[in-house]
Amino acid sequence: MYPVLNKLPNKSDSKPLPIVVIGNGPSGICLSYLLSGYIPYIKSGSVHPHPILQRKLEETPEVPIIDQDLEYLSEGLEGRSQSPVALLFDTLLRPDTDFGGTAESILTWWHETNRAIPHLVLGRNPPGGAWHFIEGSMITLSQGEWMGLPDLQFKDWMRKKRRGLRNNRATAEDIAQYYQHYVAKKGLQKNFICGTVVTSVRKVSPDVNSSYAQQDPEGNSDSFWDFPEKKDDQIASGNLFQVDGFIKNTNGRPQPFSIYAENVVLATGTYDSPTKLGVNGEDLPFVHHKLSALEEAVKNKRVGMTSDPVLIVGAGLTAADAILFAHHCNIPVIHAFRRRVNDPGLIFNQLPKMMYPEYHKVHQMMKEQSVACPGPYECYISLPEHHVLSFTEDKKCGFQDKSGHQKVFNISMAFVLIGSNPNLSFLPNNGIDLAIDNEQPVNSKRNPINVDPFTYECVQEKGLYAVGPLAGDNFVRFVQGGALAVASSLLKKANKNPP
Ligand SMILES: Cc1cc2nc3c(=O)[nH]c(=O)nc-3n(C[C@H](O)[C@H](O)[C@H](O)COP(=O)(O)OP(=O)(O)OC[C@H]3O[C@@H](n4cnc5c(N)ncnc54)[C@H](O)[C@@H]3O)c2cc1C
Repeated sequence: MYPVLNKLPNKSDSKPLPIVVIGNGPSGICLSYLLSGYIPYIKSGSVHPHPILQRKLEETPEVPIIDQDLEYLSEGLEGRSQSPVALLFDTLLRPDTDFGGTAESILTWWHETNRAIPHLVLGRNPPGGAWHFIEGSMITLSQGEWMGLPDLQFKDWMRKKRRGLRNNRATAEDIAQYYQHYVAKKGLQKNFICGTVVTSVRKVSPDVNSSYAQQDPEGNSDSFWDFPEKKDDQIASGNLFQVDGFIKNTNGRPQPFSIYAENVVLATGTYDSPTKLGVNGEDLPFVHHKLSALEEAVKNKRVGMTSDPVLIVGAGLTAADAILFAHHCNIPVIHAFRRRVNDPGLIFNQLPKMMYPEYHKVHQMMKEQSVACPGPYECYISLPEHHVLSFTEDKKCGFQDKSGHQKVFNISMAFVLIGSNPNLSFLPNNGIDLAIDNEQPVNSKRNPINVDPFTYECVQEKGLYAVGPLAGDNFVRFVQGGALAVASSLLKKANKNPP
């Protein structure tokens, strides 16, 4: 029996959970679906357009995908992800999508409850992860269909809700609602504990050399844990994790918890710690690092058409969303960014104009309305190849351009939107030991967690897994392959594979 909130098992009276998933975004949800015994088979009579994959699938049509050799099946697949399993699962779910097709998934799902593995999914917010922070009216970069999870097509849900896609894309609010609906519809709620924050994950291990080893803080190595026998054995073999944190109870007060798990999956995404400029004055109250702060300021009338300009720093899509929002509200904007406007690395230079007219418009403004040559757009000035020097209490911001010239502007508020980093402060050494370059902080693009590509188990720590952007998979359509790999590995560990 695994209690469900009081789903959280109490340290002293329960056996360890087989799996604790930290993070309840699309990665955690997809994984919970698979761990709940939903097993993917190839639909009989279906034909995959990739001839080599089709031939491989025909070899053992009766064996569920999750029990097949994922390395063999995914070999040779190509696409917009570096992860072979992500490409495999994506192409089984959306066979011809990269060629503009709308062919249905060739998978059929069976609910085999005897293959379910007890697990908990812990998350700070309602199921849906980052999608609850993203401004609700923002339109996804990806096509709506790519935001869907297995066996519940996003377009069907939209149709039922009588909602339409815009240019094939959905709003963040629709996506967040769809993920919540998915959890309810698939009966996964019993595994989810929302409002929980994990503050520590440590291996309860006799190996004092492991950075994950939890020591008895009082030095009573034989009396610290009140373990039933199974736990003692597991500690001796060094394969148990202690997960600590707190849960906000109904009156909002944090209530600590501590549970044991045989396996822990990190699905915490990378949007919790906004990247900082690291300049003087960045912690002044008018300097913000989230787009939501702009929306709030507009709502509370702290900025408006007659205020000094707001400063938006950054040249990614979140900065672009902020510009579009401010533009829509007629709020004057100064837009500073370090790259050249025609730098090929700039996201705007990579997006097809037809599909993303709003971002194309921002790019046009960035090009045509620099402070050096005023153009046709009112209420907007771009400062390409500028970096911020400092903010001062009298709401001035100093900049330096590429030739070293400095200037100062009066601003009303500043929004530094230059990306975000994962917050892995609940892991020893902030999880740095787990990264590919284990001397640098974990970063989804430059330095993800080092995982086995076919199980997503951390190379440095057995029993610990990482999925989603933490493992380098940055789009929802591709985070699902990581979940498949983890579930496949955990089913094998739990010996829940059919003979
Ligand atoms: C502005 C923006 C636009 C995007 N647009 C797209 C798009 O168009 N298409 C696309 O495919 N992707 C897009 N993405 C990326 C997409 O959001 C991610 O790929 C996806 O959400 C990753 O899912 P995840 O479950 O791994 O992590 P997340 O969705 O980030 O969820 C992780 C959850 O874990 C929680 N968590 C973190 N630490 C703890 C802790 N210690 N204790 C408890 N809970 C914790 C977090 O609060 C969060 O709710 C966008 C992202 C942003 C920020």
